[in-house]
Amino acid sequence: MSSETDESTSTDFIREKVRADNASNKFGGRVQTRFPPEPNGYLHIGHAKSICLNFGIASDFDGVCNLRFDDTNPETEDQDYVDGIIEDVAWLGFTPGEVLYASDYFEQLYQWAVSLIEKGLAYVDDQTAEQISENRGGFTTPGTNSPWRDRTVEENLDLFARMRSGEFPDGTHVLRAKIDMSHENMQMRDPVLYRIRHAHHVRTGDEWVIFPTYDFGHGQGDAIEGVTHSICTLEFETHRPLYDWCLENLELPFEKPEQTEFARLNLTHTITSKRKLRSLVEDGVVDGWDDARMPTLRGVRRRGYPPGAIRAFMDHIGVAKTNSTHDMELLESFIRTELNQTSLRRMAVLRPLKLVITNWPEGKVDMREGINNPEDESAGTRPVPFTGELWIEQDDFKLEPPPKYYRLTPGREVRLRAGYFITANDVVLDDDSNVVEVHCTYDPETAGGQAPDGRKVKATIHWVSAEHAIDATVNLYERLLLDSHPGADGSDPLSSLNPNSREVLTDAKLEPALADVARGQVVQFERLGYFAADLDDPSVFHRTVGLRDEWANIQKRRQS
Ligand code: ATP
Ligand code: MG
Repeated sequence: MSSETDESTSTDFIREKVRADNASNKFGGRVQTRFPPEPNGYLHIGHAKSICLNFGIASDFDGVCNLRFDDTNPETEDQDYVDGIIEDVAWLGFTPGEVLYASDYFEQLYQWAVSLIEKGLAYVDDQTAEQISENRGGFTTPGTNSPWRDRTVEENLDLFARMRSGEFPDGTHVLRAKIDMSHENMQMRDPVLYRIRHAHHVRTGDEWVIFPTYDFGHGQGDAIEGVTHSICTLEFETHRPLYDWCLENLELPFEKPEQTEFARLNLTHTITSKRKLRSLVEDGVVDGWDDARMPTLRGVRRRGYPPGAIRAFMDHIGVAKTNSTHDMELLESFIRTELNQTSLRRMAVLRPLKLVITNWPEGKVDMREGINNPEDESAGTRPVPFTGELWIEQDDFKLEPPPKYYRLTPGREVRLRAGYFITANDVVLDDDSNVVEVHCTYDPETAGGQAPDGRKVKATIHWVSAEHAIDATVNLYERLLLDSHPGADGSDPLSSLNPNSREVLTDAKLEPALADVARGQVVQFERLGYFAADLDDPSVFHRTVGLRDEWANIQKRRQS
């Protein structure tokens, strides 16, 4: 996989464009990008695509990528989000050239808006938001000019200055570009450039009560910073003429940046909208933005996704010009591939059943040797204590085995991983006839899992010495949303919430080597999957992914 994931060799239509621009010396060979989140929530897996693209291109072409906070909506933004986003970008493996804020440009943007008014290219409109929207017209019908469209420059300058000074309440006036109310592109029908918001802004406090819209702030921010390639998602394609209109009509002492759009990342069973994700948090469906079921970067970090595997996935799916949806199973296969290479193997029993070895020498502790990672010899081995009382999985024993059940059942011999062959002889039942203990004998000749007489067993099961076991809580996860394409049919994307997305097992038993696990470390519980130690409480584990490659199965089904 190494050559496939080597970022310097990857290409796509945006990188081709950058190459062509460099060849024609359009930006003097300079390449500058930016990742421009609005700090109104935490980043999700969709943002990771934009981050990988923007930072990846800058690094491929010896350029720079800045992190720019598009902080122009005071009501919804918060310092915690700013801090969290900085942390998440670093976690994903990228270092911004600089951390910048659109709000630092408010004065410059105001001056530019004044210059548009002076040129007769902007006016103050007193219509309500509803009137403006009604009068915009439709795709087949032209809009209607505002009754305030032909105000004099002097009147507009006066009103705009009074908007700034806080004289008017919210919603009473806006500044609009004076373009064309019958333009075929709806974005060009006198778009709003400024609105009044008497709200406290995280960074500018109460200094400003008028705020630029995305369309007036974004391109100008790009220009101020010296961005060459302003990369955004397809929904902004129709905004591009406006992006260019603003830049062309301002006296910019800078090169004009250029906007290029790409398809946003969609994943099956996954919501990538901060607003919807916030409602999951606010409705208490999940524990928080960093719940291990959330597709936020904080969520997948808690879940145990390695950032390198996320980058490799983004590189693999590439950049497209049309929207599509990728299978979550494909992302999971990248996670599994990396974890298979890097994670230590350990034994853990999630639903314990007591196994008593009746011929085990009283009090004896036999230190067995467990291989730490068969994919990495240098990871070595660890001692695993074996005693006469072990925990095994309830699932690994059946009093009355169904057909093709090869694991433990009365009279049958199986292998205990890295241990011995054992044969089940007897059980202890509780009052409800549930098996609470299995009694067996072991064959001392089978240490290490081979019988000297060459006899075979059909199953190998894992175990943990009861005396040495560490207690833990293990969270198992299923899809948070049952619908593979949430909201695609026009329904509420949150309508297919899975009521069983998390199963909490509070009685898990871990082998003693897991006492040393670091917060956030992912280990393979043998036969069960990959599990991440919680970031706050290392006695809690989250199942990152199972062992089976569901993606391979999907591919097979599609081919047949
Ligand atoms: P949301 O709807 O979740 O709030 P957004 O696009 O409004 O998303 P921003 O904070 O404005 O969020 O996004 C920052 C950057 O990330 C933008 O350039 C945006 O285009 C990009 N981005 C957001 N979602 C995706 C996605 N699913 N795939 C690729 N890029 C994305
Ligand atoms: Mg946005």
